[in-house]
Amino acid sequence: MKTEKFEKLSKEVQEKIVQEQIEFNSETFEIDDWTWFIERVKEWGFEISEDDIRYQGFNSQGDGASFTGSIIVLKFIDKYNSIYDDLIEVPEDADEIDTVGIYIKDNFYMHENTCEVEKYNDIPYDLWVKIEDQRKEFSKDLYDEIYNMYANCTDEDKVRADIIDENRWYSLNGEEFFEDDERPIRYDYEIYLNDELIKEKDLPGRTIGKIGSLHLQIKHKLNYLHENVDEIKDDEKETIAGWIEELEFQLQECWQFPKDISYHYYWKELPGCTCPRLDNDDLRGTGMRIYDGRCPYHKHLIKEK
Ligand SMILES: [Zn+2]
Repeated sequence: MKTEKFEKLSKEVQEKIVQEQIEFNSETFEIDDWTWFIERVKEWGFEISEDDIRYQGFNSQGDGASFTGSIIVLKFIDKYNSIYDDLIEVPEDADEIDTVGIYIKDNFYMHENTCEVEKYNDIPYDLWVKIEDQRKEFSKDLYDEIYNMYANCTDEDKVRADIIDENRWYSLNGEEFFEDDERPIRYDYEIYLNDELIKEKDLPGRTIGKIGSLHLQIKHKLNYLHENVDEIKDDEKETIAGWIEELEFQLQECWQFPKDISYHYYWKELPGCTCPRLDNDDLRGTGMRIYDGRCPYHKHLIKEK
């Protein structure tokens, strides 16, 4: 069966996926180049790198942008004094102060109040307030700018970027699944789909998305088994094998095939499965399977005679 990555699917199938996905697209907007912002704040003595910038968009109360990094105090004073009449007096020990940091106060949201300039003892309070005000202003500008970029980007571009860059198939059917630490799983897997079959069956974009998601869920479980095979007890292996089997049934349903265990594929890929692989390959389409009595995943499926 010939399968392809998204970029290689026919235009027709790509369009279908993209069109059906537009409504799901939301806060996954990515920006490649931050030079414009880093250069702008540098004039004010703010030293930041692109990894220090964070933002969240574009429709809830936690939305906003902020950044961490450091500030060269003398450079800030110079710049400030060159613009405002309200001159800042250079502190006597300014050379020793050198830089202050900008740190994250709150890890959950991303807006301007979630970061703060360090209250370094030797910095007069007035000066600190001015630096902090400037930082907040930059955070607000940053978000406005990001919002404009987002608003000017077409929905189709956004969706396409999403699908290609991260293989975020999970979002195609609006579904997310999480690891134990409650962050979305990392999508290291590439999902391949059969273009011919999609056209032949005239599958809706939503279903194509679900197929991608099901493959991801299976691969995620396989990954877990491969990484922990020695520690996982047999009853957990049985359970996980059962989940994978269920996901394979759902795949058959999406592809509009009969639910037939002898066409399942992944159950033979479980690490340490001792069921006879070649014999089972031969049984494809017969509705039957042969299990090994020592297999940690499948031995319980052998019916008592
Ligand atoms: Zn087995």
